Amino acid sequence: MEKQDHYSFFQGVERNFDKAAKFTRFEAGILEQIKECNSVYRMKFPVRIGDSIEVIEAYRVQHSHHKLPCKGGIRYSMDVNQDEVMALAALMTYKCAIVNVPFGGAKGGIRINPKKYTAFELEKITRRYASELVKKNFIGPGIDVPAPDYGTGGREMSWIVDTYASLKPGEVDAMACITGKPVTQGGVRGRTEATGLGIYYGVREAVSIAEDMDRLGLTTGIAGKKVIVQGMGNVGYHAAKFFYDNGAIIVGLAEYEGGIYNENGLNLYEVVDHRKSTGSILNFPGATNMPNGATTMEMPCDILIPAALENVINASNADRIQAKIIGEGANGPLTPEADEILNAKGAMIIPDMYLNAGGVTVSYFEWLKNLSHVRFGRMDKRFSENQNGSILNAVENLTGKRASDIERTQILHGPDEADLVYSGLEDTMISSYHEIREEWLRLERKVDMRTAAFVVAINKVGVSYEELGIFP
Ligand code: GLU
Repeated sequence: MEKQDHYSFFQGVERNFDKAAKFTRFEAGILEQIKECNSVYRMKFPVRIGDSIEVIEAYRVQHSHHKLPCKGGIRYSMDVNQDEVMALAALMTYKCAIVNVPFGGAKGGIRINPKKYTAFELEKITRRYASELVKKNFIGPGIDVPAPDYGTGGREMSWIVDTYASLKPGEVDAMACITGKPVTQGGVRGRTEATGLGIYYGVREAVSIAEDMDRLGLTTGIAGKKVIVQGMGNVGYHAAKFFYDNGAIIVGLAEYEGGIYNENGLNLYEVVDHRKSTGSILNFPGATNMPNGATTMEMPCDILIPAALENVINASNADRIQAKIIGEGANGPLTPEADEILNAKGAMIIPDMYLNAGGVTVSYFEWLKNLSHVRFGRMDKRFSENQNGSILNAVENLTGKRASDIERTQILHGPDEADLVYSGLEDTMISSYHEIREEWLRLERKVDMRTAAFVVAINKVGVSYEELGIFP
């Protein structure tokens, strides 16, 4: 693609793809097939809101069918449009490939401001959207499996699975038609915090490598690092929480009402309480109010986590960003222009399609749980505990020494669902980081980490298309 002044979100993704494609061995046709969105479903449907009828605009885009089902969230926002959903669906394809989740990419969106509607109205809109997806065969455990995204959560997922199940009576795997469900409705423990936790694991891995930190002039380790988080929704809040709980100093927090900054650190839990009682993060004792989220991101820090929407760092503010590490919690928070400016400044940009993949990784675990119809740990937890007890007793008898009560509890503990989900996520984030970093080193760091991540993703998707997806 030619260099141009302004890129739509989807064009930005295509541009990043093209930058990486030249480092892969695939022929032009395969690359084109990977890049394109396979199916775009735009719908309009009427919903009665109060006394009038509103025509709702919504989308589901399946970017790639190289592996099935397709996977990706559904967002409710007034910014939803076809280009945005296409870009987000494409990112899902690359994201799944990077973390070895065997799905194609998809995304959905409804163009509404969810704050404007009552729960009853949102339920009507959501159920109608779900039945439109069923009608066109755009949802199903082996077809396309949505999940939460910006503006949606467990509640919406429950409405969708219920609508799906009632239209497909007797389908034994119906629960697996969507992920991000509440645990009581077939969800998996750990899904709610998964994206934020994955961001933490990913950044922790990046800052553990002395060679890379030396180049940035930073020490290794999370403890003591100054962090700014933009967006206090599910992703931003949980990312901030895991950084805070592990010794990082949260110096800045930004939301749509504005931001707060304190170079000595903010107590995250007190900020959350303050926001609950006053309705805003502003005027938090000891912190400086910032006029808006954008200016908060420009304050001094080591690590900046934009965790809300796309394009928040762009040509107009990128040169004022001071962070040495930018961890993309959101999808597409940097425009291509901002990406260039920050790379030129020597910042390390940990790309969205790796860093926020914790959500879809745990969605994969949820889908597996639903298909197996059994909670993780149910079959083996007690067995492991009994085994561990026998081993410990044998060791105590042989050595004549006794483990302390704390040691005994730790050694005996058999894995429950949350343990398995957390460790599966941790392992995924660590090993995927190294896959990307190895590619980055192979390319002698001549490209940025996003390009290296794209190369990893294109290689995996390309092989699938070569081997399976093309009819003679
Ligand atoms: N909406 C999330 C994302 O952008 C999660 C998708 C999923 O779990 O399928 O990655």
